[in-house]
Amino acid sequence: MCGIVGYVGNKSVTPLLIEGLKRLEYRGYDSAGIAVVNDHGMRVSRSVGRVSVLESNVMPTDGGNGVEPFDGCLGIAHTRWATHGEPSEANAHPHTCQTRCGNTVAVVHNGIIENYATLRQYLTKKGYHFTSETDTEVLAVLIAELYEGDLESAVQTALREVRGAYAIAVVCNREPHTLVCARKGSPLLIGLADKSYVVASDASAIIEHTTQAITLDDYQVAKLCAGMEDKTTADGGPWSVDFKTTTIDNLPVTHEVRELEIGLEQIELGDYPHYMLKEIMEQPESIRNCLRGRIDQRENRVVLGGLGEVSRQLVHAKRFILTGQGTAYHAGLIGEYLIQDLAKTPAHSEYASEFRYRNPLIEENTAIIAISQSGETADTLAALHEAKDRGALALGVVNTAGSTISRETDAGVYLHVGPEIGVASTKAFVGQVVVLTLMTLYLGRRKFLSQEALQSHLAQLERLPQHIATVLEQSDHIRGCVERWVDRDNWLFLGRGYNYPVALEGALKLKEISYIHAEGMPAAEMKHGPIALIDDGMPVVFIATQGSQYDKVMSNIEEVKARGGTIIAVATQGDREIHRYADSVFEVPDVPEALQPLVTVIPLQLVAYHAAVLRGLDVDKPRNLAKSVTVE
Ligand code: GLU
Repeated sequence: MCGIVGYVGNKSVTPLLIEGLKRLEYRGYDSAGIAVVNDHGMRVSRSVGRVSVLESNVMPTDGGNGVEPFDGCLGIAHTRWATHGEPSEANAHPHTCQTRCGNTVAVVHNGIIENYATLRQYLTKKGYHFTSETDTEVLAVLIAELYEGDLESAVQTALREVRGAYAIAVVCNREPHTLVCARKGSPLLIGLADKSYVVASDASAIIEHTTQAITLDDYQVAKLCAGMEDKTTADGGPWSVDFKTTTIDNLPVTHEVRELEIGLEQIELGDYPHYMLKEIMEQPESIRNCLRGRIDQRENRVVLGGLGEVSRQLVHAKRFILTGQGTAYHAGLIGEYLIQDLAKTPAHSEYASEFRYRNPLIEENTAIIAISQSGETADTLAALHEAKDRGALALGVVNTAGSTISRETDAGVYLHVGPEIGVASTKAFVGQVVVLTLMTLYLGRRKFLSQEALQSHLAQLERLPQHIATVLEQSDHIRGCVERWVDRDNWLFLGRGYNYPVALEGALKLKEISYIHAEGMPAAEMKHGPIALIDDGMPVVFIATQGSQYDKVMSNIEEVKARGGTIIAVATQGDREIHRYADSVFEVPDVPEALQPLVTVIPLQLVAYHAAVLRGLDVDKPRNLAKSVTVE
């Protein structure tokens, strides 16, 4: 789930690993640890809480506490998001175990070992003693049990016994210039830098060192070596690096080296206090990037190179299934409305976790669209496999180039909004909806959508960055409004039609980072139960923009007002009427209904952000959340 960094090369490893862990902090974690190997042995440190705590244990600034700084040229480090066993020092990674010949093996792991209980029982019978409650420790023990002087071989053999999901990095003090890593189900990249290798669970911990990388596939193992060529000479001879990739059955595999597409400035905070605010405020630019090259103005058409090869299948598709989790699911729900409304093709959206286990019926000519910011979401990937196995055309809408979903789909469209560091997704949501809109227009034009309708939607999409910028100008006004009700512990978000998924997304954002209880629902649904919750002053956020259901939403507003609720409305610029009913109004530009979510969600992102800041919470590190959920 969280972070792995590993390094073997010619630089001092400890500061490099700590820096790498800091780059991965955004993924969410509860504890951290590091193992460093040099010619004299291995040192391990683990701690609960922030990476800075670990840092002060391994890199004492003044040496005043008598602790020797860790040093070496080989090491592995980890941020843990506990799945088995509470966050504690004993459960933090790396997990270590002594081999029979007295060497020590250390392992860091992201994922879940599903058959850990059986393996643990087997190893306990063999006399091993376990010191943690984690599933990961069985891997360290199994590798140590199988170690006979060749770490790569011990890892391969151990992984043949393991079921579940893993990205691992392993070191042994007997091989002080070798790092072995492997993956199945959880992401792992290997950066090929000058005289060194950097292993990490995502590119943000690598790009400082190199933009050249390979991505391991499932069931693959890499052995990375770096060191002096000749230990017998005084200067040790020239520095040599070598890497080799195999399957867990020791069959050789080759990999293409690819260029990582992210720049350092994209993952740095700049002048912003939080990544979330940076990503909200930079949306005009990131959405411009998302749209770039995809609207051909002269010919008035949508250009989606990623769909070229499947365009015939798309046109013949009788049904679309849109799937994802969390925010991506909400984007999928908007996609459902878009495809039905503009491309006149049946579509439905579903949580990936439900879809995969309900024995879904997939008719002929069905396409599934898997939506995931990271491209690694375990449930979404599994739903994709399920639909693919049953004959569906597999499409992806993901942000991270080269991610597992992007590689396992028949075709797809990248968001191109740049890396999203904030745990609460903002620009990726808008990017997902933009891409789904473009896909719908691409499809619609090949089916029933008129040239005029296409033209008017494309013209508005082109203006979207400007529209978003206009909404963002209200940030201070939104903060002022939120300040009045931030002490309320229950909020409702209501919308209809295209703005119903936006209500869900607004509520999710508020829950995620401010820990305020919030529910989103169709505005009409309120009368069927939730209206009982409305009491004096309860904040109810209505998305009440101009459109086919405006009058209905106004009636719902009256109903809430009559029961003493506080009305916060997202409304179309120039709507005077709404001010008579609402205690606060956030204005959005007038755009066609199908494009409204792209502007109405922006004030709700700011509501969530300001609420969390006003409550004194750490916006970028919300409790219990991980950025990329790579376990079921
Ligand atoms: N399942 C492992 C644990 O609970 C790894 C969790 C992670 O991916 O950080 O320790």
